[in-house]
Parts: sequence; structure tokens; C-alpha cells
Amino acid sequence: MAEPSAACRECGGAGYVVEQVLGKTARARRCTCQTGCPRCAESGYVLVPQGPSMVAQVCSCRHLDERISLFNKVGIPASVALASFETFRSWSADHASAKALAEDFARKFRAELTTKGFLLYGRPGGGKTHLLCAALRHLTLEKGIGARYVEFMLLLSDIRAGFDSNRGHMEILRPLIQVPVLAIDELAKERGTDWERSMLDELISRRFNAGLTTLFATNYFLEDRAVPESPGRSVNTRSPQFQRDAESMTLSQRVGDRIYSRLNEMCVFVKLDPGHDLRKDRAGSGSAGFWKG
Ligand SMILES: [Zn+2]
Ligand SMILES: [Zn+2]
Repeated sequence: MAEPSAACRECGGAGYVVEQVLGKTARARRCTCQTGCPRCAESGYVLVPQGPSMVAQVCSCRHLDERISLFNKVGIPASVALASFETFRSWSADHASAKALAEDFARKFRAELTTKGFLLYGRPGGGKTHLLCAALRHLTLEKGIGARYVEFMLLLSDIRAGFDSNRGHMEILRPLIQVPVLAIDELAKERGTDWERSMLDELISRRFNAGLTTLFATNYFLEDRAVPESPGRSVNTRSPQFQRDAESMTLSQRVGDRIYSRLNEMCVFVKLDPGHDLRKDRAGSGSAGFWKG
């Protein structure tokens, strides 16, 4: 099989290029070095010697097209369209280990084996969405494994909108229940009503029972964090005001014990927190558009 030229400046030898179009989900396309396939002249087949005769074999460009089509179905938001392991910046030990874990997961993942996923937690701005999408990009474009990305709040509004047009919730959930790898972002941002929890429970329990892998990202911590120091004023952590402050709640408080223990069965929990004032750094780094979550 002839490989795309590693010298290609546009794709670096990958054979595909991912594009960022504002307002649209990430799209990949064949690199210009791959248009008009030099191996099969677009017939889709190449002749390879087998013993004394020649047999037709599917050309590698068709695998490339399949992988591009898988990637284009993921639903990666435009803001992180270019997210990959290569473009992930590590600026702390947490970052380095979270990236190593996600990359190891993506490289070793095999669809035919039941594999635990990972759940990234930490305040916004740590690059959680970037890592989720980098893993999905690797799975689809490099390995040809189907994957989907959803923001849980947006999924809930799709389900609600479906009721108005007489589409049951299963119609919307089914493709997400069946896809080999699903990433659920912004977990626990929803209000946490019984209905919302039942949707989440149905989605992840069915995936779990089918032995499918699910990845998550959430802004909530696993344990109570230290109350921020407030000089000259004591803070009552039991006050209704403090309790109402969603930021101070833990993931298990947000999703409930049942779902929390299910998440534990499905995932390795990995902290990925900005660690310090990232927004200040971002302003100077010129890569602000790249980071989300
Ligand atoms: Zn190229
Ligand atoms: Zn070809």
C-alpha cells in the first residue's frame, strides 16, 4: 500500500485535513495530495499479486474516506475543531498525566473489547473538551472507530424539542446508545431534575450493559473543596446561600448516588484543572479560540 507522502506540507502525511468553520461542527476532508488517488485512479480497487495471478483489493483511499466520514459524524464543536493530542498544551503535572492517559486510551482502544473510559473533572478552562475531542479524533481518523460527542445540556434540549415533533426520546438516544465510543461533555451542568437524571441513567446504563465505552467531562469536583479564604468574614458552608452555589457542589450531589456509582464502574476519574488563572495566560497566548471546557 502506497502511503501518503510524509513530505506533504498540508497534511504532514496523514492524508486528511481537518477544517474549522465557525458555527459548524469539525469537518475533515481528503488532503489535496490524495485527490485523484494515485494508486487506484479513483476506481476504489487495486490489483495485487496473489500466487501466480492478480486479485482486486479495496484501495487504502477508501479506508481514508470511511474514516473521514466517521470523523464528520462525531459532532466536534467548531471551537475545538482542531483539537488533537499534538495541539494539547500541558502546563502542569495534572495536564501531562491527563493527556498521557487519554492518549494511551485512544491508542490502545479496541472496539471488540470492553474498555473502561475516563472522566475528566475540574474547573472550566483546563482543556477537558480538547482532550475528549482529541481522543475521538484519534479513534475515528486513525483507527476507523465510530464515535460521537454530545454536550449533555444540548442533548436534553434536542430530546425536549423532539417531543414537540412527536419524536420519542429513544429516537434521539438510540444512535448515542449504539455508537462504539460516546463522549458526554458538561456532565451535571443540567438542573438535575428527575427527568434529566432518568435520561442520563438510560443512556449510560444501556451503554454500560452493552459493554460500550463512554467518556465524560464535568466542571464538578469529586470531593468538597476547601472553602475559599474570606478575610474578616466567616463563611457558613451549611447556609442555604452557600448550598445553592452550584460551584460548591460535588459531582455526586449533582447527579445523585446511583449515577455516580455507575460512573465509577464505567470510568477512571482524572483531574484536569486549570490550576491557576488560565484566563490571564490565555489572553497572552493567542490561542484563546482553541480552548473550551
Ligand atoms: Zn497531504
Ligand atoms: Zn485509491
